[in-house]
Amino acid sequence: MNYKHILSEIAAEIEPLRTVGRQADYIPALAKVNPDRFGICITTTHGDVIEWGDVDERFSIQSVTKVFTLSMALSIMGERLWERVGKEPSGAAFNSLIQLELDRGVPRNPFINAGAIVVADVLMTQLANPEADYLDFVRKIACDDTIDYDREVAASEREKGYINAAIANMLKYYGNLENDIEEVLHFYFLQCSVEMNCRQLSRAFLPFADRHSEFSFGNVRLTSSQVKRINAVMQTCGFYNDAGEYSYLVGLPGKSGVGGGIGAVYPGRYAVATWSPRLNEKGNSVMGMKALELLTTYTRESIF
Ligand code: GLN
Repeated sequence: MNYKHILSEIAAEIEPLRTVGRQADYIPALAKVNPDRFGICITTTHGDVIEWGDVDERFSIQSVTKVFTLSMALSIMGERLWERVGKEPSGAAFNSLIQLELDRGVPRNPFINAGAIVVADVLMTQLANPEADYLDFVRKIACDDTIDYDREVAASEREKGYINAAIANMLKYYGNLENDIEEVLHFYFLQCSVEMNCRQLSRAFLPFADRHSEFSFGNVRLTSSQVKRINAVMQTCGFYNDAGEYSYLVGLPGKSGVGGGIGAVYPGRYAVATWSPRLNEKGNSVMGMKALELLTTYTRESIF
């Protein structure tokens, strides 16, 4: 497969979308990013790296981080994790409060904000140094020690994080938050603030594409079956109330973030990351989704 050629064709085709959509500005620090960016990088299970566009610039991975926090929590808790959070698609906005109330404090899945806040709480209870341990895991899975939190983005999100604070309060009310609300929010916002570029993100997703290699990064170890299941949750829940549309158009397990990043995998073959800050009304990158749609259409490679 000539991915290089396919990526350049895709880039030309999606160029008219460069100014379509709006970047997230409810996190003030994200409003400062130049929105007219696009990058894509494929890392194959053979180690080939194929890239196009703005692949060196780091961005805030935001909710893509939820794949890594889930991995860590699942490795520690195993199936017991699902007593605190579900694994059903939400069909609602990523920050829905009303759904959490209807579900009496048990979030639908670990990829909506409420679910990820519960996962953050689990990690805080289980780990001696959650901030350091999480960063260490992310660096190991991306094979890059320069990856870091962006504390300015985290602080900026906390400043305006009224809905997430409401979610955390509701979780506490229903008895599904063990730690101090403010401390859990701090850790959750830090996780979201992790910065990567497309090359690093596609590398970090490779272990989810390659179930024949051992998933073992420091203390975080998953069985091949657990990796398969994380892919299943990505497929059904990775794009919130856009998950059906994304499955229909793209057909690769993936996860989006409001920083404009997407990580996705074609199991057995490659991991891919895209970045473009302009989002559709569901909070997913316009150019990123279109690029992945064209990638699976032109290559005829998808899980379906
Ligand atoms: N940090 C963001 C929030 O909690 C993450 C949301 C997202 O990327 N969809 O609102």
